[in-house]
Amino acid sequence: MEEELNPFKIAQKQLDEAAKIMELDEATHAMLREPMRTLIVSIPVKMDNGKTKVFTGFRVQYNDAKGPTKGGLRWHPEESLDTVKALAAWMTWKTAIVDLPYGGGKGGVICNPKEMSDSEKERLARGYIRALGRFIGPEKDIPAPDVYTTPQIMAWMMDEYSKIVGYNAPGVITGKPLEVGGSKGRADATARGGMYVLREAAKYIGLPLEENEGKMHKSYEELEKLEETMPAENAVTVAIQGYGNAGQFAHLLIKRLFRNAKVVAVSDSKGGIYFEEGLPYNRTAEVKSKTGSVINYEGASRITNEELLELDVDILIPAALENVIRHDNAENIKAKIILELANGPTTPEADEILHKNGRLVLPDFLANAGGVTVSYFEWVQNINGYYWEFEEVYEKLDKKMSKAFWDVINTQKEYKEKGKDIHPRTAAYIVSIQRVAEAMKIRGWI
Ligand code: GLU
Repeated sequence: MEEELNPFKIAQKQLDEAAKIMELDEATHAMLREPMRTLIVSIPVKMDNGKTKVFTGFRVQYNDAKGPTKGGLRWHPEESLDTVKALAAWMTWKTAIVDLPYGGGKGGVICNPKEMSDSEKERLARGYIRALGRFIGPEKDIPAPDVYTTPQIMAWMMDEYSKIVGYNAPGVITGKPLEVGGSKGRADATARGGMYVLREAAKYIGLPLEENEGKMHKSYEELEKLEETMPAENAVTVAIQGYGNAGQFAHLLIKRLFRNAKVVAVSDSKGGIYFEEGLPYNRTAEVKSKTGSVINYEGASRITNEELLELDVDILIPAALENVIRHDNAENIKAKIILELANGPTTPEADEILHKNGRLVLPDFLANAGGVTVSYFEWVQNINGYYWEFEEVYEKLDKKMSKAFWDVINTQKEYKEKGKDIHPRTAAYIVSIQRVAEAMKIRGWI
C-alpha cells in the first residue's frame, strides 16, 4: 500500500492514534480533528511589470480554547490548504506542549518569493493583511514568520494592520525586527529551544553531550565571535538537513553550547556535504550566504539529502520540510536521537519503525516549540511595552523547553507502566490534547 503523505491526513492519523490510547471522548476528538475556522482569500498584487497578479492566501484558525490562535505564515510555491491545516493543527499541539495561553493557527500564500522583488513582496504582505485584517489581532490570531517569510515581512504586515486599526499594534504579529517591537533572542529561538530539549534528551539516554559551561546564555552575536574549539576525541556527531534559519542556527549553537559536538554533514535544497573532521560554522555559513548553497564548500565530499539522513551519526536534525523520513528509509536511520526542527519530517509508519529500532525521536511540535515560545515572550513585551535582555529570554525559554521534554517522557513512562509502549510523538500528543481538552471542557464547549 502507498504510504499516506498528505500532511493533514497524517496530522489526523497521529491525533486518532493518541485519542485511542488515551480514550478521548468522541466530541472532544471530533472538535480536534478539524479546524475551527478556515479562511481562503484572493490577493491582487501590482507586479513591477505593471500587471496585476492574483495570489491565493490561507489562514487556518485551528483551535482557540487556550487563547488566541498563533502560528506562522509560509510563502511557498507548493503551499496548499491541506498543508496549512496540518501545520495549524501542529501549532495547536505546539503551544499546548509548552503551555502557552494560545491556541494554534497557520497561514500561507502560494507564491515564489525567490522570484519576487522586495517591493512586490511588500505589496503582497500588505495585501494579505488587507484581506485578513479583520480576522486577526493581538487578542484574536497572531501570525509570525515561517518558511520564506522574514522579520521585514512581519514589519510590513504590522504596519498595515496598525494603519487599518488606527493605532500602533505591535502585538498583532511576532518575529518582528527589534526596532519595531521584536524580542531579543527571537531570531535563533527555534534552534536554541531545540538545543535545550536535546541537552535534556542526552541526559535521559546517557549520550555524553558535554555542556559548555557558561556559554548557554550567551547571545548568538557573542557566540558567533567565539573561536571554535576542535571537539575532543569522544565527539558526538551531528548531521543537519536544511540550512535555513533553524538549520543554520542549530549548526552555530550546537558547536558552541556543547563542547564535544561535531557537525559532520549539512545540506540545503541543492544537496549536502560531508566532512569527517567537522564543518566549522563560520565558514559554512559564509559559503551559503555568498554562493547560495552549502554544496560549494571546498574540500568536503558531496552527498545527497537522502544520504545525509542515513549517515552513521549520533544526532540527526531534520530542519527542512515535511515527509523526509518515511517507511522506505526509516529502517536505515542510524542516529540515536532525531531532533525534528522541521515541521512534519517523519511519517506515522516511520515513527513506528524508529521506535522499534530504539531511536529517540524528539517530535517537531516539542523540538521546535522554541520559536513560538519566544514569540509569546515578544507578545508579552509588546503588551507591557517593557523589553527584556537576552539572558531573561533564554532562561525563561530553557525552563519552558526542559519542562515540556520531561512532561513528554513522564507521560511515556506512565503509559509504559500501564502496559502501553507508545512512542514520544504519541506521548507528546497526549500531553497537549489533555491541556486543550481541559480548556474546552472548562469553557463549556464539551
Ligand atoms: N513558524 C514557527 C513555528 O512553526 C513559529 C510560530 C510563531 O512564532 O508563532 O513554530
